[in-house]
Amino acid sequence: MIILKGAAVAARIQEEIEAQLKELREEGLDRTPRLAIVRVGERPDDLSYERGALKRMEKCGLEARVYAFPNEISREEFENAFQEINRDDGIDGILLFRPLPKHIEEKRIMEIMDPAKDLDGICPVNIAKVFSGDASGFAPCTAEAVVEVLKANNIAISGKRTVIVGRSMVVGRPLSMLLLKENATVTICHTRTADLAGTCRGAEILVAAAGKAKMLDASFVGQGAVVIDVGINVDEEGNLCGDVDFASLDGAASMATPVPGGVGAVTTSVLAKHLVKAVRQRR
Ligand code: NDP
Repeated sequence: MIILKGAAVAARIQEEIEAQLKELREEGLDRTPRLAIVRVGERPDDLSYERGALKRMEKCGLEARVYAFPNEISREEFENAFQEINRDDGIDGILLFRPLPKHIEEKRIMEIMDPAKDLDGICPVNIAKVFSGDASGFAPCTAEAVVEVLKANNIAISGKRTVIVGRSMVVGRPLSMLLLKENATVTICHTRTADLAGTCRGAEILVAAAGKAKMLDASFVGQGAVVIDVGINVDEEGNLCGDVDFASLDGAASMATPVPGGVGAVTTSVLAKHLVKAVRQRR
């Protein structure tokens, strides 16, 4: 079984970013593209993603600033602060950690965010673009990272039976649209799917995005399938693991992404790529 490592894909995306930045500079860009990371509270998952994003931005020659607010911030105060960031001409893109605390109306923030700065594809305009196959918008970074992993490894998508386990607006649904755009034949599974194992076994490309530690083992994998694991979970021993029982795959899957070191490692690279895209589109 070939292990599809995220680092190699991230390195390729970084090269692409560097070439695009060079081009932008030659066209007269005289400042470094800047990302605003907006966080309310201190959830460990957010902090860990934030550290990864800051590192990635620096590696790619991009700038990032964290705007952190306490959980107790009032709805009005947060909306005002967010609008200031949103309207700041020196900020090219925004990453907003969600869910926001209950007293802040997330829907309203998604509606006021400038779609041109919405690097993680949460605004209605960007969601609509992903669903209509319009590549001018921004797709959620994790969903796009899955497509990047497949493409970077020359895995044919067109015409392939592709099964996604998970139908969230962050991963499953947008990913199904991105894969459909690549002409895959897509099936989406969820908790009401009648024969999950059988459906998964029919996949040539199987994507796990359920958020359940090691729930898919070799019995869910058809012979020679490509398995992409989006899940980030903690197992009984406290170790990071995916939705797939990776150790069981040998002999079943032809290729698979590990956790950690798979899709997760590509997500921040897609974020960096989106920042450069935002700058290009604004010019
Ligand atoms: P959600 O909890 O929002 O959605 C999970 C989806 O999986 C739901 O649609 C749910 O079905 C389905 N599901 C859950 N359990 C089962 C089951 N036993 N059988 C079939 N379907 C099931 O999760 P997210 O989409 O936000 O995240 C999914 C995973 O991806 C998580 O582990 C998360 O940590 C990870 N993630 C990774 C990122 C990365 O950068 N690599 C970024 C974002 C998320 P139903 O709709 O019926 O409830």
